[in-house]
Amino acid sequence: MSCYIGITCSWQEEKVSHFLSDYYVRAVSEAGGTPILIPTVDPRRAQSYYERVDGLLLSGGVDLDPFYFGEEPLAGLGEITPRRDALELSLTRLALEGNKPLLAICRGLQVLNAAAGGTLHQDLKGVTGFLHSQNAPRWYPTHQVDIEEKSRLYQIIGEKSLRVNSFHHQGINKLAPSLTAVAWSRDGLVEAAEAAEPSRHIIGVQWHPEGTWDRDRASFLLFKDLVEAAGVNNGK
Ligand code: MN
Repeated sequence: MSCYIGITCSWQEEKVSHFLSDYYVRAVSEAGGTPILIPTVDPRRAQSYYERVDGLLLSGGVDLDPFYFGEEPLAGLGEITPRRDALELSLTRLALEGNKPLLAICRGLQVLNAAAGGTLHQDLKGVTGFLHSQNAPRWYPTHQVDIEEKSRLYQIIGEKSLRVNSFHHQGINKLAPSLTAVAWSRDGLVEAAEAAEPSRHIIGVQWHPEGTWDRDRASFLLFKDLVEAAGVNNGK
C-alpha cells in the first residue's frame, strides 16, 4: 500500500561513491512513502527508474554545469558533477513529459529549471545583496519567502509567508516558460516554482525542507503532498 519515491543521489568523484543525506530518506519515510535511492547511473537507465517509481524527489547538491543552460563557466561557479547532471536532467525531462509528481529541492529546482529550458545565476554574489548561503544550522530558517496565493505551493502549505533555511549560491535567472514562479525572497529571487499547467504536479523549492520537516509543519507538508500525489497517481 505504499508508494515508491525515487530520490536522486550525489556523486563523489574522488571517493567513487554515491551519497544521499538521511534527511531526505527520513522525510519521505515519515510522510508515508518508501524511498528508493537512485544512484548516478548511465542516463540510459533513467527511463527504467522513472517507470519503477511513483514519484520523484531531486535532492540538493553542487552546481549544475552551465553548458546545460547555454553558458560558458563563469568565475564563481562551484564544483560540478557531470555524471549526476546527465542522469538528473534525463529523469527530469521524463518527469516534465510524464504525469508523476516531482518535488525538486535546492539544486533540484535549478535542474528542473534548466531541464525545462530556463537559465541560472551561476553565482549569486553581486546579483542580490542577501546572504543565501547561511552560516547557521540546517534546521534554522534565516530568510523570509513570500508565496503566491494562486499556486499549488500555497494550497499545500497554506501560508502566505514563511521563514526558510538557505544553502545555495546559485539561483533561477530566466525561468523556463513551462514553469511559474510561486515564491520569492525579499531581494526578488525566485525561491519556488511549479508547473504552469495546473494538472501537473511539479514543484521546486530553493530551500531545504528535509532539514526542517520535524520542526516545521510547512516543510513536512511538502513531503506529505509528494507521497499523497504519488499514491493517488498509482491508484493506491
Ligand atoms: Mn534562499
